[in-house]
Amino acid sequence: MSTMVIDGKPATARSGATIEIHDPATGELVDRVPQAGVEETRQAIEAAHGAYRGWADTLPHKRAQILMKGAALARQHLDEVASLLTREQGKPLRDSKIEAERFVENIEFYASLFASGAVRGKMIPLSVPGAYGLVVKRPLGVVGAIIPWNFPLTLLANKIAPALAAGNTVVAKPASSTPLSTIRLVELLNEGGLPPGVLNVVVGPGAVVGQELIKNPKVRKIGFTGETGTGKMVMAEAASDLKHVTLELGGSDPSIVCDDADVEMAAKAIAIGRFFNCGQACLAVKRVFVHDAVYDQVVEKVVARAKKLKVAPGSDASAQMGPMHTAGGRETLEAQLKDAVDRGGRVLVGGQRPRGVPFDKGNFFEPTVIVDVPWEARVWREETFGPLLPIARVQSLEEAIERANDSEFGLGSSAFTRDIKKAQQIIDRLEAGYCWINQVNLVAYDELPFGGTKHSGFGKEHGVEVLDFYTEEKSVIMGGV
Ligand code: NAD
Repeated sequence: MSTMVIDGKPATARSGATIEIHDPATGELVDRVPQAGVEETRQAIEAAHGAYRGWADTLPHKRAQILMKGAALARQHLDEVASLLTREQGKPLRDSKIEAERFVENIEFYASLFASGAVRGKMIPLSVPGAYGLVVKRPLGVVGAIIPWNFPLTLLANKIAPALAAGNTVVAKPASSTPLSTIRLVELLNEGGLPPGVLNVVVGPGAVVGQELIKNPKVRKIGFTGETGTGKMVMAEAASDLKHVTLELGGSDPSIVCDDADVEMAAKAIAIGRFFNCGQACLAVKRVFVHDAVYDQVVEKVVARAKKLKVAPGSDASAQMGPMHTAGGRETLEAQLKDAVDRGGRVLVGGQRPRGVPFDKGNFFEPTVIVDVPWEARVWREETFGPLLPIARVQSLEEAIERANDSEFGLGSSAFTRDIKKAQQIIDRLEAGYCWINQVNLVAYDELPFGGTKHSGFGKEHGVEVLDFYTEEKSVIMGGV
């Protein structure tokens, strides 16, 4: 049985309660983990609080060295971690390896920033003779990192890498259905030399463990990724203690294909952007608006790609798309599809659960493309978190932008055009935190700040900008002597 990590040691729950982890492709039991209650969460918070002063006072380049050592250890265990991730989450092994590697790269990126002295404060001349001002950056204290199940490792790294490198200590809470790969990586980072208590992991329900992290006054910051509804609750509750919050929430990314687009490139990017991770990505192409002039070609090419995708259990080396993570998620997707069809939408490919071996025991769903879906349908209004792609015909770029912005979400977006003026108009007007032009809507880069607008949240992950969200600035006035 895997164990949690509290104060640098393996930890179980005093109640003896455990959570079963099942393989979404087969339903088989993969492992059990202790189910923490309030008591264990408080222990982890106390450990992080106790470790904070020492870690914050450790020289930045020394912190970086320790993180680099942990990252190197994690790199030696990529296959083991990837295999755990595939078994608990369902994604193809190839994608799990990429994700595990991205975890390591993210830790290395922030460790390097601190090792190289690239993170700096400011010196500001003041209008007082003999005095000058300094702006110094200080860590916040204990950070609670709350993570969903779709990309458990990259979303963990997005929080712990900048937080730890900047001198904060962390209590991480993975989703209850994907704790195994997270626990293993936290163990390896601890083995790399993190002082006990600097990085802890506690597993349990959001309503218990997550709530304690949000309400406990010793936690100064919540880095949260998850659904918009949960994020709103997190923000409201964190307000009572004036905690810092970063909210990375749901999305319904639009993709616009202009009349002058490279249709081959657009179709490829849209298919990858929608079906990667079985459509369960915050940054996934969820609504497509194609100019009338190229509509038929784009639809045909996306459908052809959807037909070719190899759906199989993630452990099958040839799998390109695994099962959905939960049975409930598949039911929600099916209800959104039914709503679209009931309103007149036409399914061009997919639309069913694949049948027979090896699909019957898992949460599989076919890559699905629908057209002629009226604007009132749920797929245009809600987030669709699975392999379901609605494509709409539009008569102008103006109409495409209007439709794209007609959503409560504002996370990612993409567009395909050869005309720089159109690209500029799209960049200026799309209400989104990220915009790909003639590129696959897929990864968030370490170098570039990432985060949403509107109901997709606020605050940034990645880039040097994330450090503003894991530090606070103190202004100092130095007098002459
Ligand atoms: P979720 O909101 O159900 O859960 C996310 C995390 O919050 C889990 O660890 C969960 O246990 C915890 N949680 C749940 N209720 C809580 C509560 N009351 N208090 C504290 N913590 C609580 O989300 P999910 O279904 O696991 O993830 C999918 C969602 O995440 C999608 O909407 C997706 O778009 C979004 N997401 C956003 C980003 C981004 O960067 N913007 C990235 C990935 C996923």
